[in-house]
Amino acid sequence: MIVGNMSGAIVGHSIMNLMSERLKRDGIKTSNALKAGLVAASLITPYEHGPANAAEIPRYASWRQGITELKRSALESPNEYEAIFIQYKGGSSDWLPPVRGTPTRVKGRTVPESAKMIREYKAARAIGRICHLHTHPLNSIRHVFGVVDKKPPHGPPSGGDISSLGDLMRNFFRMSMPQLQDHQIIQAVLDPRGIWYHRHMKVRERDTILKNDPHFSEIAAERAIKSFVRDSASDSFSFSARYPELQKAYAVFWRKVRFVSYDDQEPTCTGPDYGPEKK
Ligand SMILES: [Zn+2]
Repeated sequence: MIVGNMSGAIVGHSIMNLMSERLKRDGIKTSNALKAGLVAASLITPYEHGPANAAEIPRYASWRQGITELKRSALESPNEYEAIFIQYKGGSSDWLPPVRGTPTRVKGRTVPESAKMIREYKAARAIGRICHLHTHPLNSIRHVFGVVDKKPPHGPPSGGDISSLGDLMRNFFRMSMPQLQDHQIIQAVLDPRGIWYHRHMKVRERDTILKNDPHFSEIAAERAIKSFVRDSASDSFSFSARYPELQKAYAVFWRKVRFVSYDDQEPTCTGPDYGPEKK
């Protein structure tokens, strides 16, 4: 395990603890996703809400159709959903059935289960990329961050999302399907406003983005991410003014993030490195 992952795991802990403290204060039981770890990922997700608002994506839906459904889910469903999109070389694609989680996390299928399904689905086709997505529901973001404004706030990747757990997941995918390269496995969070692609950052990239802010501490970065979320629902919020600072804050935790609004009709699962950067 490399230093970057450790750093991510630590902040993952502190953000998760903050979230669970708030939930506890409000009388809602939650458990720490990091503590639960990979063992818990094999447990069955508890069924606590009816099928109303369930995210359903047919196997042969297009990328755009699936994203529209996940956007709807982020706005309307109380629970997080995990969804996996497979794009094959040659243009065809498949959606794995979305998996429902709780309001603040989704364990999804285990990687071996997903890998088995992907192998069955793909048959003789070669995989172009696997897009591993999950939603951050509007209600949960408002609750956890204490957002009162009417406008839907942003809900970028959480501490848990950027922790070593996410990278372990990717590594398991690669172990299950050794022909895949790192860049073929894309991770993203879908919030009420758009798609947050994210990936682990290399030392040189991190040095470049933080070169004028050597004293940007983890505490300051965590504070910057939280205030971005809280402020994002206010009418005076300027995304373009705050985005560079947010990207720096994630860089402190070794994460590259790139946001794409649902209104931008970008091609299929472009990932964190698709340029030019835009709102
Ligand atoms: Zn998340």
